Amino acid sequence: MTLIKDAEVRTPPLVSFEFSPPRNEAMEETLWNSIERLAPLAPEFVSVTYGAGGSTRERTHDTVRRIQTETHLKAAAHLTCVAASKGEIDDVARQYWDSGIRHIVALRGDPPGGIDKKYEPHPDGYVNAADLVLGLSKIADFEISVAAYPEKHPDAISFDDDIENLKRKVDAGASRAITQMAFETERIVRFRDQVAEAGIDVPIVPGIMPVTNFAGVSKMARACGASVPNWLSHIFEGLEDDPETRKLIAASVAAEQCLNLQAEGFNELHIYTLNRADLAYAVCHLLGLRAKR
Ligand code: FAD
Repeated sequence: MTLIKDAEVRTPPLVSFEFSPPRNEAMEETLWNSIERLAPLAPEFVSVTYGAGGSTRERTHDTVRRIQTETHLKAAAHLTCVAASKGEIDDVARQYWDSGIRHIVALRGDPPGGIDKKYEPHPDGYVNAADLVLGLSKIADFEISVAAYPEKHPDAISFDDDIENLKRKVDAGASRAITQMAFETERIVRFRDQVAEAGIDVPIVPGIMPVTNFAGVSKMARACGASVPNWLSHIFEGLEDDPETRKLIAASVAAEQCLNLQAEGFNELHIYTLNRADLAYAVCHLLGLRAKR
């Protein structure tokens, strides 16, 4: 069993943080306070999501550019294929390159009508993430990360097919795969091993979702094909009106998962912050990360 006290003798993992572009001034303040709090932990990079259907194109761009110019952090921009032609996406990518952004998280995106609808590519667009990775590689020498699914993407015909799809993304130029949230560490370990058996040799970086709003995260998880184990629901049972205790538990559950993943050989972890610093900071502290000047 991996214990928190072992973190003292272990080299902390490399971490990255994911943020979303703010929708209003209050959210903008929260986001920037969070970035300032987490920046001294010296993450490998921080990424900014791209809203469904390209709805946050400008806000994502502004946030990424501001991180890149106003902090010492390396910013990565998420980019999807949804509702845009190849030309439009290429223009966005070129703007990133011209602003000094060198890392793109390349995604297909979800159907504009909702996650439960069938995905239809834009008639002049990139058909999927592998196609986008190929397009980006032709534009400039971007570092490209892609998504991976330890429990299979809901659209995939089979698990093997999904791994083949990941292989296509890597063959097209991706150098890192960040996973969808998955709460069972054994599943992520098994996935990493299956990916390696398929000849995919890029780092598989687990996406860590600290759970404070159990109902909300369960809904999100189910929609994207991630299972919610009974033990997790049991841990949060009876805490519906107790956000303070939920937060303490969330940090401890996420830190335990990170420590177990590290013990299994994962040296890079990607933390979904939901634009809040407190949990991500607590988890990183328990992993042995300390603020640097
Ligand atoms: P793809 O890799 O293209 O694959 C999607 C599915 O289609 C897979 O099941 C795959 O097996 C299947 N498939 C694709 N091509 C083929 C083919 N030729 N033949 C057979 N099957 C095929 N969404 C956003 O809108 N904005 C974000 O910022 C964002 N960030 C994310 C970050 C991470 C780390 C993760 C894990 C997901 C993120 N998503 C985001 C969600 C993502 O857009 C969705 O999961 C989307 O449904 C799939 O995107 P993808 O890049 O994995 O697609």
